[in-house]
Amino acid sequence: MNERDSEIMAQLLGEAGYIESLEIDDADLIILNTCSIRAKAEQKVMSLLGHLRKNLKKRPGLQICVAGCVAQQEGYDIIRKMPHVTLVIGTQNIYDLVFALKHAQTNGPRVLTSLEKRYQIPRFLPNFNGKKALYPAPFRKFLTIMQGCDNYCSYCVVPYTRGREVSRQAKDIVDEARVLVQNGVKEITLLGQNVNSYGQTNIVTAHSQKGEYGFAQLLHEVAKLAEEGLQRLRFTTSNPKDLTDELIACFAEIDILCSQLHLPLQAGSDHILRRMNRKYSIEGYLALVDKLHKVCPSIALTTDIIVGFPGETDEDFEATMAILNTVRYHGSFSFKYSPRPGTRAAKFSDAVPEEIKSARLARFQKRQDEISLERNSEYIGTVQNIMLEPDSGSTQITRGRTETNHIVHLHQAVKGAAGEILPAKIVHAGQHSLQGRVL
Ligand code: SAM
Ligand code: SF4
Repeated sequence: MNERDSEIMAQLLGEAGYIESLEIDDADLIILNTCSIRAKAEQKVMSLLGHLRKNLKKRPGLQICVAGCVAQQEGYDIIRKMPHVTLVIGTQNIYDLVFALKHAQTNGPRVLTSLEKRYQIPRFLPNFNGKKALYPAPFRKFLTIMQGCDNYCSYCVVPYTRGREVSRQAKDIVDEARVLVQNGVKEITLLGQNVNSYGQTNIVTAHSQKGEYGFAQLLHEVAKLAEEGLQRLRFTTSNPKDLTDELIACFAEIDILCSQLHLPLQAGSDHILRRMNRKYSIEGYLALVDKLHKVCPSIALTTDIIVGFPGETDEDFEATMAILNTVRYHGSFSFKYSPRPGTRAAKFSDAVPEEIKSARLARFQKRQDEISLERNSEYIGTVQNIMLEPDSGSTQITRGRTETNHIVHLHQAVKGAAGEILPAKIVHAGQHSLQGRVL
């Protein structure tokens, strides 16, 4: 989401005449777009801001701006601690960036962090005509379909930093997807904190449908762009509590919907899930996994796990390990619980000691690595359609991605364009990627 917000800010700046500088030392404006999901991400921002003092000495007039969730959360405190910051701009205010920068230039440091209850996401379409360096059109894009979250999981800062859940108008989303496809984008990932509840908190209007309109309808509508060149569609994130049969059926009904789903579990015991306010049970979660496998046998599931949530006993943690061994996720993101300001769990008194959290995380990750290797080995000898992509930091095509979102490293560079889909035989499996040969 931050990546997409950075693009929006880059586009707004490009349209206002800014040019991207390749070296930070040449910049007249530096924007840190920040994350506060865990304390570590937030600490990085503060330390980087400290370092930027020296840039200001070298370049008087430099504007330093903090955007994103740390900006939203800390507001004026950022300027109090770091007086060289000229603008603090919150998550709902980025569309006012250019105006706010001008205002700060003439009137001094500014904080713009209002969170409106009845916020509407402005209609905003990508513009590929600006400076190429500012906004290149790649073959794969994220498309934000909603903002904020109303779920209030007890550990999570998102409802406080991104505000109430609000869905974009379906016609704006489809129009944006069309602009992307017309500019060569082959794969789109629809983004939201809980895409499953798209359209539930505000009325969304669509081009083609009247009446009830939810995420499954949106998927079908975006998928029509297959006729115009869209080849792959994904979405993230899905809160299991809102994963409906109708949405699961989309994996069978929509050809371009990739056989992959990120389905955060967070914890393997009902006791901890209740304290986390996740609103699903382990039994319900496993029933969803069964349904998904029935509808789409090739689906690759990944998840998010928090270890060491307050009150997590050895038994609770063993329950998380048991789910890992039952579902055998293709991969997971796992984190030590990090108390966040303003959240309910930050007030829980039964914190798990740091060394226990670390030991549990290491055990979870070791077992996940073993399972990922076993899962990846199942692809050896199969032929997978891979979407070609350049290796990071290069323009050479040396790898591709399967529908299940596995990276396949190729034995030799391939003549083909990024975004092209070719069949490849999988010849080797590692923990985090596959190796293959284009046929
Ligand atoms: N909306 C998604 C969901 O409900 O699954 C999750 C989005 S959150 C930005 C990404 C992940 O960060 C979560 O799934 C959770 O595992 C992790 N996370 C969130 N708050 C955390 C905290 N306080 N400590 C550790 N991990 C946290
Ligand atoms: Fe945070 Fe996701 Fe829960 Fe919303 S649903 S509060 S974003 S973890």
